[in-house]
Amino acid sequence: MASAGMKRLIVVSNRLPYVLKRKNEGWELSAGSGGLVTALLPVLRNRGGMWIGWPGVTEHVPQLNQILHEAATDAGYSLKPVILSPDEYDRYYNGYSNETVWPLFHDLPSHCNFNPEYWPAYVKVNRRFAESIAAEARPDDFVWIHDYQLLDVAHHMREDKNCPDLAFFLHIPFPPPDIFLDLPERQAVLDSLLAYDLVGFQTLRDRRNFIQCVRTMVRGARVKADGHLHSIQTEGREMHVGTFPIGIDARDFATRAASPEVESEYRRILAHFGDRQLVLGIDRLDYTKGIPHRLRAFGNFLERFPEARGRITFVQVVVPSREGIPRYDALKQEIDQLVGQINGRYTQMGWVPVHYMFRSLAPHELLAFYRAAQIALVTPLKDGMNLVCKEFCACSLDEESVLILSQFAGASAQLGRAALVVNPYDVEQTADAIFNAYRMSAGERRYRMRRLRKNIRSQDVFWWVDSFMRAAIDKELRDFPVLEEYIPEQHERR
Ligand code: UDP
Repeated sequence: MASAGMKRLIVVSNRLPYVLKRKNEGWELSAGSGGLVTALLPVLRNRGGMWIGWPGVTEHVPQLNQILHEAATDAGYSLKPVILSPDEYDRYYNGYSNETVWPLFHDLPSHCNFNPEYWPAYVKVNRRFAESIAAEARPDDFVWIHDYQLLDVAHHMREDKNCPDLAFFLHIPFPPPDIFLDLPERQAVLDSLLAYDLVGFQTLRDRRNFIQCVRTMVRGARVKADGHLHSIQTEGREMHVGTFPIGIDARDFATRAASPEVESEYRRILAHFGDRQLVLGIDRLDYTKGIPHRLRAFGNFLERFPEARGRITFVQVVVPSREGIPRYDALKQEIDQLVGQINGRYTQMGWVPVHYMFRSLAPHELLAFYRAAQIALVTPLKDGMNLVCKEFCACSLDEESVLILSQFAGASAQLGRAALVVNPYDVEQTADAIFNAYRMSAGERRYRMRRLRKNIRSQDVFWWVDSFMRAAIDKELRDFPVLEEYIPEQHERR
């Protein structure tokens, strides 16, 4: 691990990048998934830093430290668990994080459960994370805290005079004042965010919303443009906010998409679907992803453009998520019904219009679907960024596919010019976009996809980390080099 005196990168997120699962009498650790892990793994790997987070189980695991230590040796950084009881997990994670903050920050206050028992549990768990960081971090380490489950961590660390610089990145959107004001704990949440030294947002829209909330709610706050950032002064303290759209490791996706394993899966998919165009949707089961709206749009497309029937198949992958929360269970039922209705109405001998999978895909399957699809339908009602659309473009090796993108995905700020942009609530407009994509010439597809891929390559995950670190501590990833002891097995680009 990193030698004493060397600045370390310490990442803090709700979950560690591994999932612990029971196996026979013992426990098994497997790699985690999801946007945050995908983005941060290549950044942390083999640099001798540390990842602090919840290990994924609330049961007592006697060998936990040993299991994590073994995984950490392979990963090239240490793993520090934050232990939560089942009740804490329920109120802090399922409750305040996912039933209050998640829907509110995605502009859906009607989906919020403002249960007063949630906030105290959220504060308690955030304090525990703060104590874990304080026990590990040296004053000159760079501590980078992630996402909406940990809005309140800095607030608990400020009192300590050895507190390192604390930077925070919000992966989800930040709502405008008229929605943020619905939150009973709005003042505490805003004060917590102002306790960080730097808060990063995905888009200008999110940063603007935050600044408007500060102006509305914090008397005497002074906001000034400061280069690429804005500084906010409140009661003798200064902090900064900025915009840093998260990227992916685009080169790595392209390389893996060309691997023999993906190639053979890709050929299997092409053989199965024949010469039909494939439209692809891949989402976690979540009401923010607009899956029912998208299915209605596809149904509308089949109704209004009968010439396309039999020539196009919609592959919708829904990855199970947040099971047990009633709203998610209801959403699953709605999707099942809509798929049944569309397939019942339009299926012909040898052609089923919607190919629906409710499971997660193995990495090689996911990449093969990205490669095989001619059209991606990425139509969230609201999304912090959306990595699926970037991964799809990175894997479009023949550069002949089309991205249909919601104007409410954070990614539309970067990709909107070369994608077909739609309002996901407008079913007819989305259906028209599917038709335009379906008959778009190869030349126009290539022109658009090349622009998309160029953007995704230049604003990749390393660019994101570098721009965030420059703003936070005037350093870049190269200031946290891959350590010599890991070089024989490292796959880093730099
Ligand atoms: N993903 C995955 N397994 C799957 C399907 C998707 O790991 O079967 C990953 C996908 O590669 C992407 C992430 O899940 O990195 C989804 O990220 P996104 O930002 O699109 O949405 P989020 O789920 O974070 O809201």
